[in-house]
Amino acid sequence: MRVSVESDRCCAAGQCVLAAPDVFDQRDEDGVVVLLDDRPPADRHAAVVEAAQLCPAAAIALS
Ligand code: SF4
Repeated sequence: MRVSVESDRCCAAGQCVLAAPDVFDQRDEDGVVVLLDDRPPADRHAAVVEAAQLCPAAAIALS
């Protein structure tokens, strides 16, 4: 699994961080998403899929 984020779309809702805190973080200054791991291990895939589904801005892409 490869993860990418479109920070221009991110509305800083933080749902991704709640779902997968080892893969996503938020910038201190404005809350915009920071991708910590673009190739998360298999045991994190379900959490990353959940994060992508929860993101209100559809800013997380998986391939
Ligand atoms: S859930 Fe989406 S909108 Fe919210 S911080 Fe994460 S990427 Fe940004």
